[in-house]
Amino acid sequence: MSAQYHIKTFDTITTLRRFIWLIVPVVSIAGFFQPKLGLFIFPLFAAIMVMGFFTGRYWCGNFCPRGALFDFPVRAIGAFDRIPRLFTSAWFRALVLALLMGFFIRNTVNAFSAWGTVSFWDRLGMVGVMMCAATTGIGLVLSLVVNPRTWCSFCPMGTVQKLLHAARTALIGPVFANPRITMTQPSACQKCGKCARVCPMQLAPYRELNDVDQVAALDCIKCGSCVAHCAGNVLALESERKTDTYRLPEPLPGYADRAAADAVIESVEEIGTDIREFTFRLRDGKTLTPKPGQFVAVRVDDENEVFRSYSVSRPTDDPSRVKIAVKLDPNGWGTPRLFAMREGDTVRLEGPMGDFTVRDTDTDKLFIAGGIGITPFLSLAREAARKHPGRTVRLLYGANAGRDVIYAQYLEELRREHPNFDYAIALARPDDGWQGHRGMVTDLIDAVTTENAEAYLCGARPMIGAATRSLAGRGMPAEAIHVDTAFS
Ligand SMILES: Cc1cc2nc3c(=O)[nH]c(=O)nc-3n(C[C@H](O)[C@H](O)[C@H](O)COP(=O)(O)OP(=O)(O)OC[C@H]3O[C@@H](n4cnc5c(N)ncnc54)[C@H](O)[C@@H]3O)c2cc1C
Ligand code: SF4
Ligand code: SF4
Repeated sequence: MSAQYHIKTFDTITTLRRFIWLIVPVVSIAGFFQPKLGLFIFPLFAAIMVMGFFTGRYWCGNFCPRGALFDFPVRAIGAFDRIPRLFTSAWFRALVLALLMGFFIRNTVNAFSAWGTVSFWDRLGMVGVMMCAATTGIGLVLSLVVNPRTWCSFCPMGTVQKLLHAARTALIGPVFANPRITMTQPSACQKCGKCARVCPMQLAPYRELNDVDQVAALDCIKCGSCVAHCAGNVLALESERKTDTYRLPEPLPGYADRAAADAVIESVEEIGTDIREFTFRLRDGKTLTPKPGQFVAVRVDDENEVFRSYSVSRPTDDPSRVKIAVKLDPNGWGTPRLFAMREGDTVRLEGPMGDFTVRDTDTDKLFIAGGIGITPFLSLAREAARKHPGRTVRLLYGANAGRDVIYAQYLEELRREHPNFDYAIALARPDDGWQGHRGMVTDLIDAVTTENAEAYLCGARPMIGAATRSLAGRGMPAEAIHVDTAFS
């Protein structure tokens, strides 16, 4: 079913890591001809241990040449499956540590038997070359059949860093030098699991937080991939000593009422091409009262605790029911699972959340929606039309073809009920006989008054960009243009 859980990403590979991996093939291959190249692993081990003491596995995610080899060239061609639990188990790591340390110590001691002779440095260097070549060889095989960072799950140097770091924590407590993945605004985490899907070590940062909302897992290599890809922008790398300063005011506006509830899927209706409306009925007498423009998160994957966020669509005016409209993304993780759910199934919901609301100003309201971005405007348009009867409320709605237009009947009813509300639809690829506008939704902006008006935009990034430029070109100030970034 659908996409792979773990996502290959390359955009957090620093310039240093793009090149540092070259050390590994140089030592592992050229070292057999120039054994002194292997001497570099001795100062390297020392550096790793000092860093490990203070910063845990920071080395592995930022400076390790072999880690860079796995994350950069090998990731492009390697397999991307789940790392088997065996490799992360304590006994397996202890076994690998004992075997490789035994090999290393025995060969180093043997090399010292040549102390004072011309061959000493070559023999010592060869210990490093063999260690590097053997471990890289195993790591590469695992990369190609399991996952690039499989080796790192039980790498003896990783284990040593973990042990030293745990000892440091026990001996001297938190230090400024140690960065930790930190959840700065827990109330706004959408539990989408993107941070877990891009984590090379296959951790799940949003589910592994300690009591000060930091990831204390010793296998975190502090690579920052989860921070860079966090969908809610709520992760940061912060010092473990600064636990009282990183937190932003909580809860965020619009997130104070967030609660979890189980709900039964009461109905599933096909309302457009690959678009379904789901109606949930909350169980156990629970209620949910979203404000217009807010969204709920639906658990789409119980095993991985993955949720997906959906704007509340058609208002139900019944606090025990909530409706969402979902567009299938065949390459996605969540929507194929959601589309496999049936009436009568129970799902976990969280919400309501979000602060995409209409400002209470005495201005006309202009809503511009692209595709499935129509959903928050169904309730926002109704609220604006009700609250500002003396003001024009207009919705411009762009879709591909007629069969992609959803909630047309609801919009028609809204127009009948509220004389100050109007809407226009633009179809990019209309069917024969379409009487409305042919083209992009942004074409419609030229025909509306933007003076003393505020605009609200929701849709794909290109549409948002084009609409913003068009509105600005017509003199609308930037502070009057509000964008819901949900789909961009
Ligand atoms: C506040 C908010 C409100 C929203 N409201 C709605 C709404 O009303 N209706 C609606 O339909 N949607 C809504 N969304 C979007 C919705 O939350 C989901 O993002 C959307 O349904 C896609 O989910 P998915 O799990 O199927 O896709 P995802 O798994 O998130 O994937 C999205 C894309 O990422 C890429 N991808 C996925 N996996 C991989 C991989 N392994 N490797 C490489 N690339 C990959 C693919 O290109 C895929 O198409 C809203 C989002 C937010 C934040
Ligand atoms: S990526 Fe998603 S689940 Fe992870 S911290 Fe960010 S919002 Fe939360
Ligand atoms: S939790 Fe974040 S920083 Fe730590 S290893 Fe995973 S992606 Fe990297």
